[in-house]
Amino acid sequence: MHPFREPASPSRPCPRCAIGLGTRQVLDVRLDECADCGGVFVPGELVPRLLDPLDLGLEVVEVFPRGVPAPEDPIRYLRCPRCQAMMNRRLLMRGSNVVVDQCKPHGVWFDAHELRRLAELAADRPAAVAGSPAASAPAAAPDPRPVVAASLERRSLLERAIDALLGWL
Ligand SMILES: [Zn+2]
Ligand SMILES: [Zn+2]
Repeated sequence: MHPFREPASPSRPCPRCAIGLGTRQVLDVRLDECADCGGVFVPGELVPRLLDPLDLGLEVVEVFPRGVPAPEDPIRYLRCPRCQAMMNRRLLMRGSNVVVDQCKPHGVWFDAHELRRLAELAADRPAAVAGSPAASAPAAAPDPRPVVAASLERRSLLERAIDALLGWL
């Protein structure tokens, strides 16, 4: 672990703002972060750790600012801060509205609020998903099982999304 913060480096320009990315420490990992737009660039192998509530996920929810990912209009393709190649756009999880930008060899760009939103989904924070499918069961005594099932369903959706993401990397 490098003990010092790196200064913002113009050799790693923000894909949106072109200013040099700084460093954001999340417990034991360091990410490239833009001080201006709040986007972060994450090496692919760290994505599952940052979203896992049993690993770094809750820390991400703690340290990244709350907000709603902005829909992009018009759509822009972004360049990888490491190699300047055009990145691919990927919908990370159906229903999340989070479209990330990915460079196969180097990692994934999350715009402001996107990483936190996904970590919230993974941690099953209630604000994250609006409504579950209408209950088809007849109204009866409250039964905790549907809630648990919905939560498990969201977790498995996210796990599949992460698998897919790793498959792209
Ligand atoms: Zn930026
Ligand atoms: Zn790259």
